[in-house]
Amino acid sequence: MPPQLTRLDDATVAEIAAGEVISRPARVVSELIDNALDAGASRIDIAVDGDGTDRIRVEDDGHGLAREDAELAVQRHTTSKLAADASDALTAVSTLGFRGEALAAICDCATVELVTNDGDAVGTELRVDDGEVTVSDAARGQGTTVTVSDLFADRPARRESLAGPAAEFGRISDRVAAYALARPEVRFSLRHDGTTTFTTTGNGPRDALLGVYDADLARQATVVEHATDIDTGAGTGSLELRGVLAYPSVTRASREHVRVAVDGRPVEDSGLRRAVIDGYDSLLAGDDYPVAAVDIQPPSGAVDPNVHPAKQEVGLRYRETIEAAVEAAVGDALSTADARRTEAAAT
Ligand code: ADP
Ligand code: MG
Repeated sequence: MPPQLTRLDDATVAEIAAGEVISRPARVVSELIDNALDAGASRIDIAVDGDGTDRIRVEDDGHGLAREDAELAVQRHTTSKLAADASDALTAVSTLGFRGEALAAICDCATVELVTNDGDAVGTELRVDDGEVTVSDAARGQGTTVTVSDLFADRPARRESLAGPAAEFGRISDRVAAYALARPEVRFSLRHDGTTTFTTTGNGPRDALLGVYDADLARQATVVEHATDIDTGAGTGSLELRGVLAYPSVTRASREHVRVAVDGRPVEDSGLRRAVIDGYDSLLAGDDYPVAAVDIQPPSGAVDPNVHPAKQEVGLRYRETIEAAVEAAVGDALSTADARRTEAAAT
């Protein structure tokens, strides 16, 4: 007998999609931070209990939401970041979010409490539990707090596939560090089981490095701000790179301490990471990797953020040219810093 094809019902489609977006607790944290940054937050406080399935709370001082918008926000494919007919705008999207599915997906796999205020006298508390939404008044200053609890309570297999509290929190902490370094003008704090893991001041890249690592490392680093014209084949475009590069004398055994963001979005992009490492070139011994965090702004039209459900990879046009420019910019910044230090030592 040939197989019969059937069309999945909406609930099943939604559940499959939610499982793709929210693969593990660190994804919840990333999506909530994206939303806080898109809301223009200058301060983001993150608290995690256990492996993150117990509780994740992200608090921001962004623009907040009016009650009717908060009620819309938890529904699927509702966004304030794209117009309804925006397929053209997808390549030019400047916000971290645009699909309108993160909050809905999180609500599908957890209990969610959203407390928000857009500057009104009274705020709104929205609780979504098993698809049931309750709304009430809440006292809160402007901004939004999202608390996610009992993640994957209905998905025992997903829950059991998680790597344990230390490893899952490690992933979360690494994500928060990546955001803190990519957005050094925002104050971040991360707490785990009531204890502060790190905080940053929002006073620029060197301070972010200090928060995520320590004062010693922050002293042994140079801040880079660089703009180059690159040939895109269709004319010239401007590539900007900013961030912080630890001196080559500071090394790590793994490449994970080389962090790359594109347009302020932390990405896992092995090509760009390789380009940064290659910028250190012969300054590093064989198996050593540097500590670096750079945010790359490619020419407009060069980035497609919409290639990956978790948006952790981006599609890049003129990739080879961009990687070469990144490598050169890192090399330049390091040799300038080195010359400056040699000069300072001589006087
Ligand atoms: P997206 O970010 O792709 O738009 P989400 O499901 O993550 O989709 O969020 C839906 C909408 O909820 C957003 O477009 C935004 O208007 C609103 N929202 C979510 N989180 C916040 C927040 N922390 N502060 C203000 N608005 C928020
Ligand atoms: Mg979002």
